[in-house]
Amino acid sequence: MLVNTHANGDHTFGNGLVANASIVASAASAAEMEEQTAASLAAMMRRAPEWGETGAYLRRIFSPFDFEGARPKAPTRTFTSFLSIKVGDKTVDLHEVGPAHTAGDVIVHVVEDGVVFSGDILFVDCTPILWTGPVANWLEACDLIAALNPRVIVPGHGPITDLAGVRRVQDYLRHIDREARIRYDAGLSVMEAALDIRLASFADWGDAERVAVNVSTLYREYRGRPDPAGEPSPFRTMAALAARGPRR
Ligand SMILES: [Zn+2]
Repeated sequence: MLVNTHANGDHTFGNGLVANASIVASAASAAEMEEQTAASLAAMMRRAPEWGETGAYLRRIFSPFDFEGARPKAPTRTFTSFLSIKVGDKTVDLHEVGPAHTAGDVIVHVVEDGVVFSGDILFVDCTPILWTGPVANWLEACDLIAALNPRVIVPGHGPITDLAGVRRVQDYLRHIDREARIRYDAGLSVMEAALDIRLASFADWGDAERVAVNVSTLYREYRGRPDPAGEPSPFRTMAALAARGPRR
């Protein structure tokens, strides 16, 4: 049995390798997986050489991956809100906490062991990326992890962590939300805001340029509209920011 905590390819493109497993995901994640396929990323990477700075950035960040020929496998069981399953003698509670990082984030609580697998609700020592939002859901998801009082927390990225790691992610999200709002109210574009925001103690986290996506998603939230309103693609803004380096 396999749980996909969310739809992103770094968590789902291996599904085809466990042909006989039952795969559980939230219904929202299953729907998002149909859109974000390995085939679509493979097609994007074939075109990357035409895209200058953005293409070079894509080739760099995706260099560990080969999307060609990844065999898709959709979840075999979906749920909304909450599902408790038995795996052997273990109770495994699945809490849907999205939309936050993506449309259908799930955290996995192995109750008797006191272990939480947070999926990408937690990035430890690397930069969280807010693809979907709202940010309030992500902050609440962190509070839920804390309320489960786990002994061990396995993040989506980075080393095993504890409640301090959870609070650090909340600190980052609150910092970016506060700083983005100021610049939104002042009329700055996403790119201008992303270039202007000081990352302070978060500047040393890997992939700091993800602040560009985080600002873009927060702007959509502030506008109350899901469309990007003519903003450049997230990969273009990240590429530009990565070339310049984060503001400390
Ligand atoms: Zn991930």
